[in-house]
Amino acid sequence: MHYVIVGNSATGIGAAESIRARDPHARITIIGDEPEHVYARPLISHYIAGEVTPDEMRYRPADFYTRLRLETRLNIRAQSFDANARAITLGDGATIQYDRLLLATGSSQKFPPIKGRDLPGVFDFWTRADAEAIRARIHARGVRAAVVIGAGLVGIQAAYGLRGAGLQVVLIELLPSILSRILDAPAAAYAQATLEHGGVRVLTGRAVAEILGSAEQGVTGVMLNDGAKIECGIVVKATGVAPNLALVKGTPVAAQGGIAVDEYFATNVPGVYAAGDVAETYDVTRGKRFVNANWPNAHAQGRVAGLNMAGKATAYTGSIGMTSMPLFGKAIMSHGIVEPEPGDEVRVRESRENQIYQKLVFRQDHLIGAVMVGDVGMVGWINHVMQSRRPVGALKDALLDGKAAYYSARRALFKQAMEGVDLPWRESLSSSERYRKVFNEDTWAERERDERKW
Ligand SMILES: Cc1cc2nc3c(=O)[nH]c(=O)nc-3n(C[C@H](O)[C@H](O)[C@H](O)COP(=O)(O)OP(=O)(O)OC[C@H]3O[C@@H](n4cnc5c(N)ncnc54)[C@H](O)[C@@H]3O)c2cc1C
Repeated sequence: MHYVIVGNSATGIGAAESIRARDPHARITIIGDEPEHVYARPLISHYIAGEVTPDEMRYRPADFYTRLRLETRLNIRAQSFDANARAITLGDGATIQYDRLLLATGSSQKFPPIKGRDLPGVFDFWTRADAEAIRARIHARGVRAAVVIGAGLVGIQAAYGLRGAGLQVVLIELLPSILSRILDAPAAAYAQATLEHGGVRVLTGRAVAEILGSAEQGVTGVMLNDGAKIECGIVVKATGVAPNLALVKGTPVAAQGGIAVDEYFATNVPGVYAAGDVAETYDVTRGKRFVNANWPNAHAQGRVAGLNMAGKATAYTGSIGMTSMPLFGKAIMSHGIVEPEPGDEVRVRESRENQIYQKLVFRQDHLIGAVMVGDVGMVGWINHVMQSRRPVGALKDALLDGKAAYYSARRALFKQAMEGVDLPWRESLSSSERYRKVFNEDTWAERERDERKW
């Protein structure tokens, strides 16, 4: 049996591991257009800030591919595939036959056609190659100032990384508040204050009309739509993401917002699976298909997809939109639906003095959303309760209501939740160290379990 995986990142690696654990003799090939050993993409900003080395960014040990006997074709694109012939064609014209194919092609950035977008010094913020190029320009040109366009998760992380590298950073956001897809207005205000406290200048409700500079000099600044100019030697584009669907264009594989899959990650084409950022899966809180693009979801989906590909039918219980990050020492997390709809119930706890803000959103008897700034100690069980869809009943009021009530509610919910599904993502993220720990050790534990089988 030959398993072929396109995409050498969180999803692809998760799949390769569970296939190998199930099938010690299978041939497994990973195709990836980035040249590197698999690395944790969320650590890119920490790399730019000089907080981690390339070795520490590795998501698996150096001998990972040989130990799992994975064949790799890296630094090359899968150009097309023929579902009838079960064959993938690579950028160099080579053809690879597969029995089962996993599309784990992830997503990439999109940016409007603003003048100057192709000038030297204008970067995406997506890959290790982007990070290397940014670092090289900072050092070669002695760049002291940067502009980041777009204040979503990637833009915020870019601002953090560039500030950590010692640059003056201006973050420009078209909408009235930052992180608007994952935070409500009060949480966004806390996050903005944290960024500003960390030395990032934040301009909301402003748009970049043009990126200024020349082919020789590269970028020299940006002009806003009100005519104001901001000088800089680097511009980071961070205005949005879209799933990488190029490989399925013109094929029978059904895709809209992402590749459509069933709960076993099978597409509508026999032998072809898809998972991770490129796939639309069932969103537990929304109750419909959605692309929940984040690292733990991607890895977990890869693992379940791999099991199914290797013949162990395993239904995926669904994903939750979730983000947890440390921002200049302040923990921020968002899970599920953070803006209530009519009929939803909301509980809020806020301490301006301690810069703590917590909000829970309930639909009928279920917790469907949570936003937390400053105190994210509850993230583990929040995740469990949301994912397991356990009713919270009369406990709603107690949850944010002081320590004693909270702990008794937490105990009760935890007891319930223990009967629910097993999740790969349980830890709260309260500092960048903890964050790194989760990204590595959580999956280490899984890997060690599998290692006994390899
Ligand atoms: C800067 C940044 C910060 C982030 N921070 C966080 C965070 O804090 N927390 C969090 O949970 N998530 C975060 N994410 C999101 C997270 O990294 C993604 O959800 C995750 O990487 C998705 O994994 P994936 O394997 O599905 O896809 P990807 O990681 O996108 O990998 C897909 C791979 O496939 C390759 N590929 C695509 N098409 C082809 C082809 N035709 N042929 C060969 N190769 C191909 C791509 O180049 C890529 O290497 C962040 C992302 C970025 C960019």
